[in-house]
Amino acid sequence: ETLDKGLEKSKTSFFSKLSKAVAGKSKVDDDVLDNLEEVLVTSDVGVNTTLKIIDRIEARVAKDKYMGTEELNTILRQEIAGLLSETHSGEETEFTVPQNKKPYVIMVVGVNGVGKTTTIGKLAHQYKQKGLKVVLGAADTFRAAAIDQLQVWADRVEVPIIKQKMGSDPASVAFDTLSSAVKQDADVVIIDTAGRLHNKVNLMNELTKVKRVMQKVVEDTPHDVLLVLDGSTGQNAFEQAKQFTKATEVTSLAVTKLDGTAKGGVVIGISDQFQIPVKYIGVGEGIEDLQVFNKYEFVDSFFG
Ligand code: GDP
Repeated sequence: ETLDKGLEKSKTSFFSKLSKAVAGKSKVDDDVLDNLEEVLVTSDVGVNTTLKIIDRIEARVAKDKYMGTEELNTILRQEIAGLLSETHSGEETEFTVPQNKKPYVIMVVGVNGVGKTTTIGKLAHQYKQKGLKVVLGAADTFRAAAIDQLQVWADRVEVPIIKQKMGSDPASVAFDTLSSAVKQDADVVIIDTAGRLHNKVNLMNELTKVKRVMQKVVEDTPHDVLLVLDGSTGQNAFEQAKQFTKATEVTSLAVTKLDGTAKGGVVIGISDQFQIPVKYIGVGEGIEDLQVFNKYEFVDSFFG
């Protein structure tokens, strides 16, 4: 229900654009395909993924010799769900962590302003609700505001936070956080990191060092490298995904601000293009406004 609320704008927009694209047409022809291509691109599905979808529809039209426009909706749903299947099992509905990894370590990356801190706070809240013991690490030491903001969330959720003063070594904060988590017998560790994209080599070096130091405390960590992207920024989100996947091995995505955008299509394009599953979606500023991404619900909401 919240998802429906959250994706209302995407839904209205995609569905109405799609209806306009087929208006007055009974069968899928080149005009309809051209219109559909435009609808997908303007919904931020991204050019590559759009072309992939168009090709698949074209192939089905060619094979069946005919496709009615009233069928298009159903077929498009299948194709989009199919694309998402390549990266998502689609069955996840709850916030959980694997039991055999303790503490389970999540390193969160992303540029400033995308909703990184908020997502960490919301996630911590969800895990805490489940009875899990959470520790936060303020390894974005570049900005004082980042440390303060994470502290605000730690207080709100009532979970411990490990921090040092601004300008200290992020790897040292990560080390302290994991050490503390192990000592406290914590279940989940969430580490915030700085997202300065203007210096890619620095970013890569910093993330690599943070990871290396973490592994001194808990082997094979981080278990998850979660990239947070702002779903309302379209092409910027694609560009950031490109840069971060070059800088480090991103294993999952959180797409935020899907409540405030008419362009939920970014979820489809980014998970397809980078072959990384979207694990969470942010649908508001509140503590409860984070959802585990479910591809079936997503496709339903997207189409209305
Ligand atoms: P950070 O700089 O990446 O850590 O970003 P913040 O977590 O501080 O978030 C930046 C702004 O985006 C804040 O005003 C948040 O309340 C807002 N925000 C974060 N996630 C969402 C979301 O899912 N929906 C909406 N509408 N706002 C969000």
